[in-house]
Amino acid sequence: MFSRLKSIAGFKCPKCSVGDLFPNNDFFDFKFQVNKSCPHCKEDFVREPGFYYGAMFLSYIISAFFSLAVCGICIIGFNIEWRLSIVILIAILAILFVYLFRFSRSLWLHLMVKGK
Ligand SMILES: [Zn+2]
Repeated sequence: MFSRLKSIAGFKCPKCSVGDLFPNNDFFDFKFQVNKSCPHCKEDFVREPGFYYGAMFLSYIISAFFSLAVCGICIIGFNIEWRLSIVILIAILAILFVYLFRFSRSLWLHLMVKGK
């Protein structure tokens, strides 16, 4: 279970947990294309055209709950005004945008492909 979560967050292959899901794992690399297959075990990462549309909905759900959590912590935890909380949220989302995008694709692929 923990290794599966580590594989999702580290953008690794759902089958072997060794091969990288993306060609480059730099935090601020704005290339969103997934590798066509696993460099290690040759697992197909692009199952069909439009396979990652589901990841878009996952990204939306994750971002919504993340936004609620950040605003809730700012408003309730730190007693910050709601407008400033929104500004803080936008700044955090702008920084984490690439990571959340990649995380949702990784999570989607791990949900669809049975691991070892
Ligand atoms: Zn693999």
